[in-house]
Amino acid sequence: MKPLSSAITSIPRSGIRELMDLAWRTPGVIHLEVGEPNFATPDHILEAAARAGAEGYTKYTPNAGIPEVREAFAAKVTARNGFTSTPENVVVTVGAVNALFLSMMVLCDPGDAVLIPDPGWPNYEIMAKAIGTRPVHYPLVPDAGFVPDLEALDAAAATPGAKAMIINSPGNPTGAVFDRATQVQMLEIAERHNLWVISDECYEDIVFEGPHVSPAAIVSPERVISVFTVSKSYAMTGWRVGYASVPPQVAAMMSKLAEVITACVSGVAQKAAQAAVEGDQACVAEMRDAYQKRRDLVSDRLEAADMLVARPSGAFYVMADVSAAAEDGYDLCRRLVTEHGVATAPGETFGPGGAGMIRLSLAASDEDVRTGVDRVVDALAAV
Ligand code: PLP
Repeated sequence: MKPLSSAITSIPRSGIRELMDLAWRTPGVIHLEVGEPNFATPDHILEAAARAGAEGYTKYTPNAGIPEVREAFAAKVTARNGFTSTPENVVVTVGAVNALFLSMMVLCDPGDAVLIPDPGWPNYEIMAKAIGTRPVHYPLVPDAGFVPDLEALDAAAATPGAKAMIINSPGNPTGAVFDRATQVQMLEIAERHNLWVISDECYEDIVFEGPHVSPAAIVSPERVISVFTVSKSYAMTGWRVGYASVPPQVAAMMSKLAEVITACVSGVAQKAAQAAVEGDQACVAEMRDAYQKRRDLVSDRLEAADMLVARPSGAFYVMADVSAAAEDGYDLCRRLVTEHGVATAPGETFGPGGAGMIRLSLAASDEDVRTGVDRVVDALAAV
């Protein structure tokens, strides 16, 4: 047989998945490795989905999404994200992950470079490599609350062939929320080097100390691919609905490409997502408050053990300093699963900047978060 694609063969598997597989095979383990809300999708959204099924939203939809759903997302962006979006700007996608992948594909040619945060969500690097582009890390500084090192970002932006800068605020795995001043400086660098900005705003509603600022509200939206999702805000990870607000010519390219990858998003799921953004937002605040309580509990516990890297201002993750263990992060996380009954994500999976840290997710139940962080602290105290 001829060999399989070298681009896909050479990309690393996400370290989080590896730990998850081990944790699921090990009885009694507390799962703090995954970033999936423990809440159920709110009832009014489930009801909208049932209605959509009965009303016949069970067929293919246009590639860019059902017109009234695009309209609802454009109205949400205009009202809540501080810049004007119209249905022509919006492409409905299979989660934010699909919006990010489509946008990288329509912006970049093989060999181009994409700037990604380090530590950052592993999928950025995997996507970049899958389409033959070169990921270039720009460092987030742990001691400064994981804000970018602007000099290093500027140097990365000068990489020959650099095409796009990914900004992720609130960030995974750091929980950092970049304030307006920081984003202004990042966007000046993007403008100076004429880079596209891909803004992953998947945690926009999970902000404890804010506010969340959308880059497209600062610079011309013509430069920015703004990516959103209902996954985290409304506990809808499995519905697979995200959306991008982009310049119309980019929207046309993304929909053209969506035709051959997914064709469209499930109509029932799109209608559920429409109900989510148009309906009562109290559920979003309730979930955010629960994450904030867990953030405080875990940060306080880690701080007391001298293991807190930075108190996160958003998203639902906390980075713990495990450098005292002086052990490869993957080995440590495997040992935490098999000997201490708690699954976490090794820092290295988020880039070289994650070495010496592990990521704890706050998306598990209160009880699991409390017991899980105790197990981590006790295990580390024993080394
Ligand atoms: N972006 C970041 C930073 C994430 O952490 C995730 C999911 O964990 C996603 C995007 C993907 O979200 P979705 O479920 O909408 O594809």
